Amino acid sequence: MKQYKNLIDGKLVDSKSGRTFENRNPANWDEVVGVFPKSNVEDLNMAIEAAKKAYKKWRAVPWPMRSEIMRKVAQIMIAKKEELSQLMTREMGKVIKETRGDTQEGIDTALYASLEGRKFYGYTLPSELPNKSCMTIREPLGVWSLITPWNFPIAIPTWKIFPCLLSGNTAVVKPATYTPACVGELAQIFKEAGLPDGVLNVVYGSGSEIGEAILNHPDIVGVSFTGSSEIGKRIGEVCGKTLKRCSLELGGKNGQVVLKDANLELALEGILWGAFGTTGQRCTATSRLILEAPIYDKFIDMLKARAEALTLGNGLNEDIDVGPLVSESQRESIHGYVEIGRKEGARMVTGGESYKQGECANGWFYKPTIFVDVLPTMRIAQEEIFGPVLSVIKAKDFNEAMSILNNTVYGLSSAIYTNDLNLAHKAIELTETGIVYINAPTIGAECHLPFGGMKDTGNGHREGGWTAYEIFTEIKTIYIDYSGSLQKAQIDTQG
Ligand code: NAD
Ligand code: MN
Repeated sequence: MKQYKNLIDGKLVDSKSGRTFENRNPANWDEVVGVFPKSNVEDLNMAIEAAKKAYKKWRAVPWPMRSEIMRKVAQIMIAKKEELSQLMTREMGKVIKETRGDTQEGIDTALYASLEGRKFYGYTLPSELPNKSCMTIREPLGVWSLITPWNFPIAIPTWKIFPCLLSGNTAVVKPATYTPACVGELAQIFKEAGLPDGVLNVVYGSGSEIGEAILNHPDIVGVSFTGSSEIGKRIGEVCGKTLKRCSLELGGKNGQVVLKDANLELALEGILWGAFGTTGQRCTATSRLILEAPIYDKFIDMLKARAEALTLGNGLNEDIDVGPLVSESQRESIHGYVEIGRKEGARMVTGGESYKQGECANGWFYKPTIFVDVLPTMRIAQEEIFGPVLSVIKAKDFNEAMSILNNTVYGLSSAIYTNDLNLAHKAIELTETGIVYINAPTIGAECHLPFGGMKDTGNGHREGGWTAYEIFTEIKTIYIDYSGSLQKAQIDTQG
């Protein structure tokens, strides 16, 4: 068990509150992974002050020099990949293959940042007027607050930290209380790579306590948040009052459509991974399976057999398919949805209960659960469950499948399985989600492409790749008049 401290101005410090909280292993609740400061507003103010002080110097460091630090971070992360991944499995529960993927996503994001610093271009454009040139450059904003969820303990923090810092901003990170250790280790890696003190600060603690104070702090210029739509709306509301920039990546209710002509074996592999990978705790998890009527019964039989063969257990064991849920309260919430599904009249074909056999007795395991004959209006077809619960819905044809797919307030990811080229393209056109997969599951984003959703999944920003840099920079438009006389746009140009 390790004692963690806040990172403020390059120093590891306890909370002024004197309070701490424990981070436990959801596969074995007796195991304490780490003890963390339960910070208060005083700690937060110190961190923001440090970030504000560091900003002036950091923004003056040339982009390629900033990206050089990102390259060093990537190198250290590569060396520590296995260590970080094992820690992540212990604090979050997902299986080791997946935590290696999560860490790799962080490494890839670091490597992307290490190149981006040498090609962060603006535009040059012609002027309406002679002897005048026009261009744009991008600049940092100041001190950012980065607030992250627990389901991707490295990948999501890195999606924010790298573009934020490479752009010349400084930051205060508040990681989720279920998974604070990975961010703690990551911050140490930045320090080891030579990041100046105060550029990246980490303050642990509860969202309701320090989260609100962050949003209201006058020195915070922007908030980048990933989490639930409920908290996201609150953040947008507070940021709106003081016109803080605000990027929100929120919930999902993603669907996989399987058309009658599809490769069913492939669609089956896709749904098993999409619905039960990460124990369903992904914003992009497949929560609804929409089957075209002619294959409905056959596909459900195939799916039930394969779902029942998935092995549950401690994710450090390489043979395990599905780890625990992150906490007892998540397990209760998921079981609550199962009860709702039963009451709504959906038919459960497998799962529906906790799994407590052998070594799993001490963890928050839940059996992969499948409801069939689900109607699109039922709550289990509408609300984000965030666990291993799949709702199967029958559609009479392609058009009905597409309208069921879009019948949700969320708009993150969709998967369409078909070998019909025309239907695949029509589906791309009709889908109301920020990410569309053809013949691949709803999960599997790559770090160099835009990531984000439509509708209640967000507020129009995209993380990943170059679009993340749009979030963290301001555009400055520059006109240089070398005519030596006053030239008036729109007036001198109209004869
Ligand atoms: P959450 O909204 O409960 O918490 C997210 C973070 O916000 C945590 O660090 C929490 O402490 C903090 N927080 C809570 N209240 C706050 C407040 N009033 N002010 C400021 N911060 C506050 O979400 P979670 O349970 O950690 O994560 C699961 C959710 O995240 C799901 O809804 C999932 O879909 C979503 N998610 C979305 C994406 C995406 O990119 N779209 C990715 C992963 C997870
Ligand atoms: Mn934990």
